[in-house]
Order: sequence, then structure tokens, then C-alpha cells
Amino acid sequence: MSTGMPLPRLIHIDDYASVLGEPQVEELRTLASRLQGRTVQMVNSTAVGGGVAEILTRLVPILQELGLAIRWDVITGGNDFFDITKAFHNALHGGSYEMPPESFEVFLAYNEQNLARLQMEGEFTVIHDPQPVALLKARHDQSGHWIWRCHIDLSRPNPTVWQFLEPWVNRYDGAIFSSPEFSRQLSIPQYLFYPCIDPLAEKNREMEPEFVRGTLERFSIDPARPILTQISRFDRLKDPVGVVRAYRIVKRYFDCQLVLAGGGADDDPEGAAVLAEVQEAAASDADVHILNLPPWSATEINALQRGSTVIIQKSLREGFGLTVTEALWKKKPVVASAVGGIPTQVIHKHTGLLAHSVEGTAYQIRFLLSNPAIASRLGEQGHEHVREHFLITSNVRRYLTLFLHLLGSS
Ligand code: UDP
Repeated sequence: MSTGMPLPRLIHIDDYASVLGEPQVEELRTLASRLQGRTVQMVNSTAVGGGVAEILTRLVPILQELGLAIRWDVITGGNDFFDITKAFHNALHGGSYEMPPESFEVFLAYNEQNLARLQMEGEFTVIHDPQPVALLKARHDQSGHWIWRCHIDLSRPNPTVWQFLEPWVNRYDGAIFSSPEFSRQLSIPQYLFYPCIDPLAEKNREMEPEFVRGTLERFSIDPARPILTQISRFDRLKDPVGVVRAYRIVKRYFDCQLVLAGGGADDDPEGAAVLAEVQEAAASDADVHILNLPPWSATEINALQRGSTVIIQKSLREGFGLTVTEALWKKKPVVASAVGGIPTQVIHKHTGLLAHSVEGTAYQIRFLLSNPAIASRLGEQGHEHVREHFLITSNVRRYLTLFLHLLGSS
């Protein structure tokens, strides 16, 4: 089976033994030994930007190295399609849905267009998120195994969009959610898979302190003063303007700096407008660094996270928040909103601090800046929490186990 997307540099599976221990890697090999040559197809809507692309970039080459014949395809569409799917995304997170009624037909027409373009031939097909959900039409005679992997917080979906999607989802063999609270009443089996990060990827691997320092200086950030950072696409649900407001409160007490670093995703049409809003909110404060990063900035993001004093994730809604996972892995104290999958990662006062407002966020940041020993302990505990639950190898194990289960039950 050919590969749709170019695969990034392979990190060998044995390399994970240094992080996890040999027995865990051996377990993956044993599970995969019964799936040699089995065909798997992953489909999502963007190759770069956002958490789903981040996971697939690592998951796909590892499953390939373990002997599965895996391909990753990305659907395409015009601006009208991505305007609709972004509106879906916001509505499924609980917002209103303002698109015209024919938007559903446009959505389905783009799925048809992709069906004509893509070869859908996996024994296991995993469709990520709503954008490609209707590719299920390619399935004939109930052949193969089709799974819908939902990365969105579906706990309070807008009924108009959910009523459209639900019949599609119910035709799959199963659905994967990132948290028990996100699952819905469906007629198909549901599985819980935590999202994950790759500790050996460029985004997360260890770095020399000199490199971190050099990166900060390259962005004109002063390493000698506290640095508060939020890494996120410029998206209103990440509330970057709220982050600027929280920073302004903290700034009254601490001579700190704020870094808001992000870029776009191919399937997110709102980025430029939100970036402009943030630039306006920051006005001409020289201590606010708004960095519009290109998609190939993994090393810079790693260095910015490592160089930060406190990492913020002030999302209003969140699927899971891989940026939080990345920060915890780097032993950083995190202040994050108690939304979506964040409380699964940030256990209040154990692996970080949760907040519910601009003022609450500012309060928790001030607490951490005043108590560096506590901040450091939270970071250490956060690191262990990620090691236990949110590393890519756990995700690989879950997929292998699911595929074996589906084979056994067919
Ligand atoms: N990210 C990135 N460049 C950016 C902004 C984000 O590479 O400019 C990465 C970030 O490091 C994380 C992922 O994209 O790995 C974002 O995932 P998350 O689950 O936090 O949010 P999403 O964007 O999927 O809503």
C-alpha cells in the first residue's frame, strides 16, 4: 500500500526504551506481530498545524515501523468547505451555528469530491474529526473496519450540527473519544484514547540550555526576566486576548514578559483575523512578543516552552490541549483553564493550577512567580503524569489493541 503523506524522519521504536523501559517496547512488538502487513488508512483534514496533525506525524511512522501497511491521507477543500468545518468545530464545542442550511450539502459535496480523489482501501480506516466523516460512503458491503476518531469536546454540542453528524457516526464500527465526558449516546462501541506527545520528536526532545537561551534572544525575549507563554493557533477559543489581559494584571506586580506564539492550520480560516485582534490588544507593549510561526517551528516551540517561567493555556473550549502535555513533559508549571481535556492533565495543585477567568489566571500566575519551589514541584509531578498516560507509545498500544479486537470480533 502506498503512503499518501510524506513521512517524517523515522525514530526507531527501540529508541523509546530509553524513556519507557525495554518491556513496554517489547509489548508493542508483540502486539504488532499479529498485525504484520495489515492495511491501515488514517484520514484527517490538515497535514500541519493543530494537535491531530501533530499526533499523526508521529503515530503513522511508528505503526509503519512496527510492520503495519499504513497510509495517511489529507482531504482537500475550498475556503467555503473550511469555513463550514470551522463553524462545525465551534458549534460542536457548544457555540451557535450561523451557516445557511445548504452548508450541509456543500460539506457533503466536498466529501464526495475527496472520495473521487482518494483511494480508500484500508482494512482499518480511521477517520479523524468531522471534516472527512462522510468518506464512510466508500465502504461497500460492510467490508473493513471503520472507526471515527473524535478529538473534539462533544459534551455540549450544538444540536443542529450534531443532528447532522450523528447518523454518520452511528454507521461506523466504533468511535474514539479523548475523555469520558466527551462521549455521546451512540449505537456503536466507544473507546477512550488519550491524545499523546512523542518525547523523542523535535518538539519535545531534550535541549541544551544554551540553545534555549539563544532562541529566546533571537526573538528579542529577555532570559533574565520571567517569561509567561501561551503556544496556540490564533483561535478565539484559545482566548489569546484573555491571555494579554491576565498578563496586564500580573505585570502590575512582576516585571514579566508575555510570549504568544502560534501559526495557522490549513483547515483554520480564522487565524489572520484573530492575530490582528491580539496585536491590537497588545498595543505597543515591548514586553509582549507575538510570534507568528511557520509550520516547521518545532525546535523553536520546544525552546520557547523550555525557556518559559510559566506556561499558560487559557482556552475557552479545548479538545485536549497538547500544548499543555508538551509543557508538563518539560516540567513547566502550567496555569490552564478547567475546560475540555485540560483537567485530565492539570490536576489542580498536583500537576499544575487550574483557573476559570482572566483574574483567576492572573492570580495563579502570580502565585507561581512568588513560589518557585512549588512551581518546580508541580512541573516534576506533571512530567511523571505525562510519562504515565500521555506518551505516543500508549497511543500506539491502544490502536494495536483496538485493531486486534476488531479482527477478533469480525
Ligand atoms: N502548534 C504548532 N505551531 C503553532 C501552534 C501550535 O506546532 O503555531 C502545535 C502545538 O505545539 C501542539 C499542537 O500544535 O502540538 C496544538 O495542539 P492542541 O491540542 O494544543 O490544540 P489544537 O490546535 O489541536 O486545537
